[in-house]
This record gives sequence, structure tokens and C-alpha cells, in this order.
Amino acid sequence: MSQLLFASNNVHKADEFREILAPPLNILTLKEAGITIEIPEPHPTLEENALEKARVIYALTGKDCFSEDTGLEVDSLNGAPGVHTARFAGPHASDHDNIQQLLMELKPHTNRSARFLTVICLIWKGKEFLFKGECEGRIAEREEGQTGFGYDPVFIPSGYQETFAALGMDVKKEISHRKKAAVQLAAFLNEASFQISQEASA
Ligand code: IMP
Repeated sequence: MSQLLFASNNVHKADEFREILAPPLNILTLKEAGITIEIPEPHPTLEENALEKARVIYALTGKDCFSEDTGLEVDSLNGAPGVHTARFAGPHASDHDNIQQLLMELKPHTNRSARFLTVICLIWKGKEFLFKGECEGRIAEREEGQTGFGYDPVFIPSGYQETFAALGMDVKKEISHRKKAAVQLAAFLNEASFQISQEASA
């Protein structure tokens, strides 16, 4: 089975990528690859942060790898928290703190429309590729559901009445921002591996 290094230690994201991408691709988190490093996210865009994470790990290992950065954009908050989604309630905020901050800031607003945006950066044979996915929805009035992570208990995807956390992984893995970006990553890798095996047998 071919291995691909995921420039992250977020086990929730890694599990979702495993569900979506499935064998024959074996995804390894940094911890699983024996790499201990905190990669900063200092940039003003998801693209730049994703690029930075993949570049740091590629420079360290010389191995093909991919990273991802995700943000939540809320229309009534002028696109916030956006690139600051992980730190919305402060530098060491928990998921619960971030959700409470979001619900509080949205209280005066009737428009609760929002979207998740995911940017994946793949470094493959030394070249950089970006893949993007988006999931439209709205922010619930209160937390609901037990599965997933981050803002899943308050994000209701368009076409549904329940949050990602209540709908569960079977639904999330089919319609999420991460799924949409990962499908493009998978298509690229399929094509690239096919070309490599063609070249090897030529
Ligand atoms: P980052 O991409 O790891 O910087 O994540 C940004 C923030 O969005 C963190 O607070 C995550 O918990 C949250 N987040 C990332 N992906 C998802 C998701 O699929 N559902 C809910 N929250 C997410």
C-alpha cells in the first residue's frame, strides 16, 4: 500500500481523509511518522497556511506530502472567523470556547449563513498543487450532536436540518468541504500513479 505523509497531527482530519480516500492509500500523520513539530499558521489566507505546512514538512523529509487548512466563513460576521477559525476565542481556545464565541457574536443577527472552506496543498515529486472544497450551510442556534470535531455541533449543511455532529460521519464524509477537496486530491494521485506505472513498464 502506498504511503502519503499528512502534514498534521489532527487525528480527526486524518480519520476523515482515511474514510474519504480509503486504501490503497495509507495516510500517516506526523506523529505516526515519528515527526515532532508544531507548524505555525501565520498567514492571512488558507492557501498560504496550507502551503507553509506542506513546505515545512517537505523540507524536513524530502517526501511527498499534503497539508490542509480549513476556515469557517460567516456572512453576518463579514467572513469571520475565516483564517482565524482555530483561534476565534483566543490563542488557546477549545472547540467549546470557539463555538460559544460564535454563538454569542451571531446573537443579534438573523442571517446565519456560513460555509466551510478547505484548501489542500500537495507536494508531489517536488511540485506544489492546491485543491479546494467548499460546503455551504448555516449556523445553528445551539450545539447539537456528538460526532465530528471543531464547529460540527453548530454547522448545518445546506439541504439538511441537523448539524454535522448530529448527522454523523456517513453524511459528513459524502458532502463536506474536506470531501470535495479530497476527491480532487484522489483524482490527481490516481492519474499521477498511473503515469508512474506506465513509465516504469515502458
Ligand atoms: P485548522 O484547519 O486546523 O486550522 O482548523 C481551523 C478550525 O476549524 C479549528 O477550530 C478546527 O477545529 C475547525 N475545523 C476544521 N475542520 C473542521 C470541520 O470539518 N468541521 C468543524 N470544524 C472544523
